[in-house]
Amino acid sequence: YLLTSFLFVLMESAVVAQQNDQIIEHKVQTLLSQMTLEEKIGQMTQIDFSVVAAADGQTLDNPVDVAKLENAVLKYHVGSILNTTNTPDYKPPYIEKWRLITQTIRNTAAKTRLKIPIIYGIDAIHGANYTYNATLFPQAINMAASFNPELSFKEGEITAREVKASGLDWNFYPVMDIGRQPLWPRLWETYGEDVYLTSVMGSEYIKGHQGDDFGQPTKAPTCLKHYVGYSYPLNGKDRTPAWIGERALREYFLPSFAAGVKAGAPTVMVNSGEVDGIPGHANYQYLTTILRGELGFKGFTISDWEDIIRLYTRDKVAASPKEAVKIAVLAGVDMSMVPFDFSFYQLLLELAQSGEVPLARIDEAVARILKVKLQSGLFDPPPEPLAVAGNFATADAQAVSRQAAAESVILAKNAGATLPLAKHSSVLVTGPTANLLSVLNGGWTLTWQGDNERLYPQDKQTLLAAIRQKSSGKVSFVGGQAFNDEIDVDAAVAAAAEHDYIILAIGEKPYTETYGNIDSLELDKNQLKLGQALLATGKPVILVYFGGRPRIITELAEQASAVVLGFLPGMEAGPALADILYGDVNPSGKLPITYPRHTNDIVNYDHKPIEKFDVNDYRPLYPFGHGLSYTSFKTSGLHLSKASYAQGETIELAVYVKNTGTRTGKEAVLVYLNDVAASVTRPNKQLKAFKKLELQPGEEQLLNFKLEPEALSFIGLDMKRIIEPGDFKIMVGDEVAQFNLRQN
Ligand code: BGC
Repeated sequence: YLLTSFLFVLMESAVVAQQNDQIIEHKVQTLLSQMTLEEKIGQMTQIDFSVVAAADGQTLDNPVDVAKLENAVLKYHVGSILNTTNTPDYKPPYIEKWRLITQTIRNTAAKTRLKIPIIYGIDAIHGANYTYNATLFPQAINMAASFNPELSFKEGEITAREVKASGLDWNFYPVMDIGRQPLWPRLWETYGEDVYLTSVMGSEYIKGHQGDDFGQPTKAPTCLKHYVGYSYPLNGKDRTPAWIGERALREYFLPSFAAGVKAGAPTVMVNSGEVDGIPGHANYQYLTTILRGELGFKGFTISDWEDIIRLYTRDKVAASPKEAVKIAVLAGVDMSMVPFDFSFYQLLLELAQSGEVPLARIDEAVARILKVKLQSGLFDPPPEPLAVAGNFATADAQAVSRQAAAESVILAKNAGATLPLAKHSSVLVTGPTANLLSVLNGGWTLTWQGDNERLYPQDKQTLLAAIRQKSSGKVSFVGGQAFNDEIDVDAAVAAAAEHDYIILAIGEKPYTETYGNIDSLELDKNQLKLGQALLATGKPVILVYFGGRPRIITELAEQASAVVLGFLPGMEAGPALADILYGDVNPSGKLPITYPRHTNDIVNYDHKPIEKFDVNDYRPLYPFGHGLSYTSFKTSGLHLSKASYAQGETIELAVYVKNTGTRTGKEAVLVYLNDVAASVTRPNKQLKAFKKLELQPGEEQLLNFKLEPEALSFIGLDMKRIIEPGDFKIMVGDEVAQFNLRQN
């Protein structure tokens, strides 16, 4: 009986969902039938906030220029707005000011003939980072390093709540690009180099952010970006060409987007660059044939920043701005991000009137946009300000961010158990990243580049401040006020003599996109010089790295007593790191990328078989999945449910994990697969499953994993995903098991 009633409830909710879909579809069609062509094209237009911002955007009572807003909305029927004023000195709005801005926009939309709401999009990439004082999380590279999908789910949940509390509607996140090119200045915005890890972390984020219905007051729609192949520019510079063959595209770059579509993301942002000679915004095959036809995406696509006109100005695949609009819309772009003027609107109107862009294509795009607006609950009255504001930047939310920071920090080396430090030991703290909040947060924090330290909240702790609070010994600091201030090496060396330990915090200044382009992964000379001088003192050096990509630290790391890779652990990271350095928290982060040893030895862990010539092997400074703990873990007894499986069967495996040390700790257990022989070359190993668990000293647990048949698949000779019979290996820790897949 229980089972029947459970099934009945399931069926009933499926019926309700279907009815809701029908109601929404009906509303979309009704609206569409009432709209003029001009109103339709306005829906496809997204303007930057600066177009409607008051000259003095700083004043709380007057952030919006209502005349400009009315011009955009009443005359050009603009259906979407994004971001906030993006000057480096502009302190982002507090929640109250955001509510005022978004309420003004709502009021203006209510004056239009059909009262179609405007959808406001924002880059809330590590929490609601454009709302002052919001809960800010570690960046994606760290979330991945936590190997804890539950934290990604919670980040999504909290971000949606705080975005909505600000009156904002839609988040341009998660980044589903795969970070396999470490020079790329957006590597840290990705979940790292692995396809499976990215798919899991991104999907959990979406589920947390959207719930089962993103029309609820504290939920909001997400946006998968940047579809597809954006993250793999050949020369490592942002928005430069990628050369990705179809097999690599399907094997490495598409699956995470497929996972995001499956998780329910209703919008997709297009790749700003080009793949194999075709700009993202002109690629019909990617945007329509594959995204819609193969991945089954039903939502709407949005261009990236000002990218349609670039088909003419940069890519030269269009001979005029008008042709650029035509190519993009026909390729499958539904909404244009950022016209600063109304030329997109004007040109598309002309193209539609002349029949060069069929009206059916306009209707299709507008229907998709209206559907997402309806699903997002934008036609309903906005949630009560106080109810949502009470949910803003709560202590609980900040505790999640702190936990995520702690679980994302990687202890890469710990010679002679240097760490954890005793609280009474004396430490010299030095280095350019030791006393700044911006270096913990990276780009997209308060401002686009995230590098304006003066705007950071005063009540948050830098690494130095947190160490000072935690330590009961002497703590001295030698350093500057800003990242680029030269540090007095002699003073640091002299101070080192008076302390037990040196904590040397190095790394990168925040950046994103083209501003973060570099020519080499080398660390700058000043930091190397400081490091060498301190290592020469003979005092134990604890090297702490903050930055968005793996700069080459080999020389320092090899001599340092301990190495902690912090990457971009977020606003609560100071205390989280102090917890780790002093042993109040046991580190459990693992590398979601390969940390290279040399500038030019760029290899991903799931590389193809290579001959064991010395120079060709996978010998990074730290491999993917590397991360130490203050305790030790041992995996044993890996076994599979069968020695031979039929095609289509689920592979079941189990392995024991034991805490063999003396402290409680968390361990992410990673399951890798290797296809022993196949018709195309296969990686040495690929991550297929993982679980993170906590174990007491001496405690042992049996972990079970299931690999669905899909896990054995790859892109075959004819570019289709296939599963070939034969032998496979499973690897967990030092354990290896083999099975055979039978021909059916
Ligand atoms: C970035 C996107 C971002 C958009 C809106 C673009 O420059 O590539 O990731 O969502 O700007 O801010």
